Amino acid sequence: MNTEATPIVEIQGLHKRFGDNEVLKGIDLQIAEGEVVCLIGPSGSGKSTLLRCVNLLETPTEGTIVAAGHDLTARDADLDLARRDIGMVFQHFNLFSHMTILDNLVVPQVRVCKIPKAKAVAEARRLLAEVGIEGKEQAKPSQLSGGQQQRVAIARALAVKPRLMLFDEPTSALDPEIVGEVLAVMKGLAAEGMTMLVVTHEMSFAREVADRVLFLDGGVIVESGPPADVLANPKTERARSFLHRVL
Ligand code: ADP
Ligand code: MG
Repeated sequence: MNTEATPIVEIQGLHKRFGDNEVLKGIDLQIAEGEVVCLIGPSGSGKSTLLRCVNLLETPTEGTIVAAGHDLTARDADLDLARRDIGMVFQHFNLFSHMTILDNLVVPQVRVCKIPKAKAVAEARRLLAEVGIEGKEQAKPSQLSGGQQQRVAIARALAVKPRLMLFDEPTSALDPEIVGEVLAVMKGLAAEGMTMLVVTHEMSFAREVADRVLFLDGGVIVESGPPADVLANPKTERARSFLHRVL
C-alpha cells in the first residue's frame, strides 16, 4: 500500500437521504491503491448504501465521490465507463440465472469491453479455474452451490478488469461450512494487490486481511484504523458493544 499516491477512492461530505431518512450523514473516506478496507457496523447503519453510492447504484444527495479515476458525482460522468472499473459482489450472487456459467463471464467482456468472443472465452476459463470452478462451464447458476455461485460472481466481476472491488456481505447468505472457500478467493485477490472495500461480519477475515477497519454506526464513520486497534481495542462504547455482540 502506497499512501503517497493519489487515492483510488476519495469521498468527501457524502450524505444520502431517502425521503426524511438521512442514512449517510457526512462520510469522508480515502482508500489507497491496493488497500483492503473492511466496513463493519450494525444492520441499518448504512453500509450497503455507502457501497452502492461508490458505484452509483444510489445517487448521493450531497458530496463528491471520485473512484478509480472517475468523478462519479460530476454531471457528465460516464457511468458505464466508471462501472467497468468498479466491480461489485453482492450477498445474493446476482448471477444471470438464464445464462450458463461460462456466458456469465463471457457476455460482460464482449458487451462492456468489446473483447472478441474467443478471447473472452479463454479469459473466462482462466478466471473460473482461478476461483476453483472447473467442469461447470455449461451449467446454470441454480445447479451450483451457494459457495460456487459466489466464486463465479467474483470471477465475473473480475472479467472486465476492474481497478476496485466492492463486496457487500459476500458470505452472509452461505452455509457456515462454505464461507471459507469464498473468503479464500478474496484473500487471494487481496494478496495480488486488488483494492477492496468489503462489508463483512467475518471478523477473522477483517483481522487477517484488512489494512484498515471502519466502524459505521448511524450513518457516520465512528472508528477507523488498523484491525488491531478497531477490533481489539475500540475507543467508543458504540463499537465496543457492537463487537461484543458479534465476536
Ligand atoms: P446496512 O447495509 O448497514 O444494513 P443499509 O444501507 O441497507 O444498511 O440501510 C440503511 C437504511 O437505509 C435503512 O434504514 C434502510 O431502510 C434505508 N434504505 C436503504 N435503501 C433504501 C431505499 N432504496 N429506499 C429507502 N430506504 C432505504
Ligand atoms: Mg447491508
